[in-house]
Amino acid sequence: MQHHATDSLLDQPVTALRGVGDALAEKLGKLGILRVVDLLFHLPMRYQDRTCIYPIANLKVGQEVLVEGEIDATEVVNRGRTMLLCHINDGSGILTLRFFHFTTAQKHSLRKGALLRCFGEVRQAGFKLEMAHPEYRLVNPDTPEPIENTLTPTYPTTEGLQQRSLRRLIEMALQQTYVLPDLLPENVVRQYQFPPLKAILHMLHTPPSGSTVEGMRPQRLIFEELLAHQLGVQQARHELRQVQAPAMQEANHYWRKLLRALPFAPTDAQNRVISEITHDLQQGIPMNRLVQGDVGSGKTLVAVAAALHAIANGYQVALMAPTELLAEQHYQNLTRWLEPLGVETVYISGNQTPRQRRRKVENLLLGIGHIAVGTHALFQRTVEFLQLGLIIIDEQHRFGVHQRMSLREKGKQGDHYPHQLVMTATPIPRTLAMTAYGDLDYSVIDELPPGRTPITTVAMNNERRDEVITRIADACREGRQVYWVCPLIEESEVLQYEAAEVTAALLRERLPHVEVGLVHGRLHGSEKESIMRQFKQGDIQLLVATTVIEVGVDVPNASLMIIENTERMGLAQLHQLRGRVGRGSTASSCVLLYQAPLGKTARKRLDAMRNTTDGFVIADIDLELRGPGEVLGTRQTGDVRLRVASLLRDQHWLPAVQEAARAIVAQYPERVELLTRRWLQQAGGDTATRFFQS
Ligand code: ADP
Ligand code: MG
Repeated sequence: MQHHATDSLLDQPVTALRGVGDALAEKLGKLGILRVVDLLFHLPMRYQDRTCIYPIANLKVGQEVLVEGEIDATEVVNRGRTMLLCHINDGSGILTLRFFHFTTAQKHSLRKGALLRCFGEVRQAGFKLEMAHPEYRLVNPDTPEPIENTLTPTYPTTEGLQQRSLRRLIEMALQQTYVLPDLLPENVVRQYQFPPLKAILHMLHTPPSGSTVEGMRPQRLIFEELLAHQLGVQQARHELRQVQAPAMQEANHYWRKLLRALPFAPTDAQNRVISEITHDLQQGIPMNRLVQGDVGSGKTLVAVAAALHAIANGYQVALMAPTELLAEQHYQNLTRWLEPLGVETVYISGNQTPRQRRRKVENLLLGIGHIAVGTHALFQRTVEFLQLGLIIIDEQHRFGVHQRMSLREKGKQGDHYPHQLVMTATPIPRTLAMTAYGDLDYSVIDELPPGRTPITTVAMNNERRDEVITRIADACREGRQVYWVCPLIEESEVLQYEAAEVTAALLRERLPHVEVGLVHGRLHGSEKESIMRQFKQGDIQLLVATTVIEVGVDVPNASLMIIENTERMGLAQLHQLRGRVGRGSTASSCVLLYQAPLGKTARKRLDAMRNTTDGFVIADIDLELRGPGEVLGTRQTGDVRLRVASLLRDQHWLPAVQEAARAIVAQYPERVELLTRRWLQQAGGDTATRFFQS
């Protein structure tokens, strides 16, 4: 093993620095600073200029400056509360320093005639200028301390951690930069004319007087961080491929039998993705694939194809959905499709009593149950499988990377890991996907089943509700069904379902000939299920719902979707909701009700919804309006902890970064470890777990 540079002080925990004990280390840890090198990448938010002494006569309100003057007078006054005032004079003018908290010793030290240097923000007090609680120190006129010759950085900090200690520690780290190697490939440095890393760090932490570094985010650091991140996901992916998974044989008898029974044929896109998956399943290493398909693109069928492949090989499958409602729907679909094949689907619900559940759990353990469907309840300790070969996670954006990893661990049998298939309707721009989900292979179902007619979308002011109600009546008269999605009330689930009840009551009154149903998050699983079943069967014509119907509910006869309060919803959610209609062959429409006046962003969102139904276009606009943190879900980006770079702002770098990552692996493999270690924040641990569990 090579021991260059990596053994330096920089790679050691912060406690290796003089004066850093456990308490301080803990505070630094809160800032993500674990090792000495992390201090170097803890960049200032802004700077103070203490490099010149300002004449008092030139001060302006709001300036943060250094002044020096002789104390004219110090007095304690009482203006409603006791305070200490100290007036200093530099020959050009007089400035008052005001202290609301002070000690007697402090008062005595500020004696008339002493020379005082202080730093603070200038503010207006009546007609005069003053500083409240400035930093100050007494100056010996015979041996005046030199003033700073660099700008003073202000760092992001945490409670109980002084700027001064941060600065001191960072200065200590800066003294070690002589061992900090430049790790970017030389051609990248040349092509983009990146300055050397050391120079950049010194410039950022100790900018010479007069430099303009405020808000500076050097592209080299951004590039390096994105590169380290890219290498990290690649490495995690590589490590995941070092373990074993069942190598399944080509076996499609169940699937062929299902195809004969289905009233439709899979689309080309579905077939392509299915063959990508079955290819993965035949390898002896765990599949780790993300399938992205717009709402209604038929992801369930793809999941079923994968499941049947595993089952035909004698393995069991776990299908996990984010909500009970969806799990129930999957259970029903699967039972309908698979029972005739002799494939047994087991439903595991958080709502089942232990007794109800026991039988099902036993079946899984005995291998009588082939597919288990459920929410995360599936992965409680009591549920065990005889031979779990494949885990399918539906609607991935509700699950974080952590959950994905821990599921894999739970499914581990002996030294074999189950295959994993993740399905999401959230379209992810390709470059982002490679960086945010670089550990996954990626398939896209880029085609909707035939015979779907496009959805017409209109935005309407709340005041035009009457027109909307007429439209509902018309649709129902034509034998169609309608969704009405109630406002999202984030503050309270109770308020949310009360609002839904009020709306349902109102609609019942206004539409006496229409059968109205209500579904919300407070209903029990069985109640929800029964209402959804009635809606599916057409017994309910108008379904009033809270946003619980967001993901995956499938009722092809529904052709009208009303969404309330759309000014408060995100694009991704609106797109998901709208995807509940337009699943049959009738022309569908979506009415976006909003409360005027519309803000600028809200208007842009509604415009986007009216102009396109293409999930990828919507994802791009969403990304533009919100940034990747929200697009990918906070859970995921919680793992993508970037210090300098931003996936959104800096995404133009991603292609070059991906290219550089390839070059590093091919030409400088020893730098992979150095780069990921430098940027990915944890001392020790293997990269895969470090990356995902940081
Ligand atoms: P999503 O991708 O949103 O999960 P679903 O799997 O719920 O979509 O499928 C939406 C609807 O399309 C379902 O009714 C499903 O049976 C139907 N479907 C799936 N594949 C096809 C196909 N190839 N042709 C016609 N209908 C299909
Ligand atoms: Mg679905």
